Amino acid sequence: MANMRGTKEYFSKLAMDVKWLIRELGPPTLFVTCASAEWFSDALVEHIRDINKDFAKTDSMTPAELCAMDPVSVSIHFHKKWKAIFKKLILAKESPMFGHVSEFFWRIEYQSRGAPHVHCLLWIDNAMIGKDSNDDVKAYIDQISTCSMPDSSSSPTLSALVAKFQTHKCNKYCMKAYKKNGQFYRKCRFGFPRPTKPATYLNDVADCLAVNQIKQPRKRLYHLRRTEQEANINDYNPALLLANQANVDVQYIGHMGSRLPYCITNYITKHERSENDEMWQQMYSAAKSVGTNAMSFLLNAIKQRQVGANEAVDRLLGHKLYSQSRQLRFADLQPRDKARRVLKPMKEVERLVQSDENSTDIFYDHWVLDIYPARPDVLEDVSLHEFFGWYEKGGNVKDVTMRLKNGNGCLRKRTVKPYIVTHPIVNPNRSAEEKERYFTSFLSFSDHGETKKTSVLWDKPTKRLSSNSRSTCRQW
Ligand SMILES: [Zn+2]
Repeated sequence: MANMRGTKEYFSKLAMDVKWLIRELGPPTLFVTCASAEWFSDALVEHIRDINKDFAKTDSMTPAELCAMDPVSVSIHFHKKWKAIFKKLILAKESPMFGHVSEFFWRIEYQSRGAPHVHCLLWIDNAMIGKDSNDDVKAYIDQISTCSMPDSSSSPTLSALVAKFQTHKCNKYCMKAYKKNGQFYRKCRFGFPRPTKPATYLNDVADCLAVNQIKQPRKRLYHLRRTEQEANINDYNPALLLANQANVDVQYIGHMGSRLPYCITNYITKHERSENDEMWQQMYSAAKSVGTNAMSFLLNAIKQRQVGANEAVDRLLGHKLYSQSRQLRFADLQPRDKARRVLKPMKEVERLVQSDENSTDIFYDHWVLDIYPARPDVLEDVSLHEFFGWYEKGGNVKDVTMRLKNGNGCLRKRTVKPYIVTHPIVNPNRSAEEKERYFTSFLSFSDHGETKKTSVLWDKPTKRLSSNSRSTCRQW
């Protein structure tokens, strides 16, 4: 199910991927959201009116009707706009919008199965709480976001955009009831109206880390400088708002070692409401085998999953639904007798039996158990972690220095960035078996003296080990 886009399993895999990115790269700096407002885009609405005029009475249709009629154009417009904003403004080579982006992750989400919006995590080489001074952090926050109401005569376009898209009006969806001292109160879950502040203000980090019952941070990390008239204006970046022509949200989340990035991760990788659990209950039949049950579940899941028109179009057009700057690679560190191996194709196995009927060579090479030990001499000092990060099959067969010693092909080194190496997380304090697995994994990665990266192996490091690898041990 993890490969079926939009399922709960698909998003939990995505959530794991983001958690690995944060584990290895450290906390992201910014959380940026760009919404769509297709009805308000004159260019798009006129384009839809024009290209569909042979099929419908487009002259008399409202923008909403036109957009509903042609989700293909809406989807293409949204993706082109996001691609341009991301490549030309956020990742711009010269003066990028938020500073130099070292890593990123973004995903597209659909509001109640309707309009698309994009959530984006950015790792930016800039001020971090816990590393830099509060003044530096505040200066950076002020540089990339604001909640000011622009002057309508000197900046008419921006002022109109802020009034239209950045001004929050509370409604029944944002108002949450809560109980205090036996009394019921209602409060906007986005924190509007927001407090007025004479200058940008950082909250105490410990307060922000305390989470409420639904595991959301209780306090915002900071408040922007805000006047009373700006109490309902959501934080934005003027250039981003001008480019997106729809609601944007820019949040600074750069705190070293906070749990904040994980709260954000859960938020941006949440799965859409799923009917799967219910469907399984309805379809499960004790009279059928597990395999038959699973197959009918799978077929029904494909047939029955509800998707909005925009989402359906994105899938049919093969639009990217998420992207990240780093690829992940899983290292199977199980002991030899438990390692998962990939079977060779039937034809190859048949050929094998013909040449030697006692042959047991039915599996492809295993990266930890076969390929790493057979690495060429030039890679003798490369640790398993580094090996997984940088080396893959392929390369020039004539290059004898990179040939595997078992004769099964040769290796090549990646050129730009290594993979982020993922592996099972083992807690040595849980049981004797886990402890053994933990040390097996530890030894696998530190085989050649490079213990640096092994710190990511445990959640609760023992004192002795954590002091050995202090520098890179990040605990969340
Ligand atoms: Zn509200």
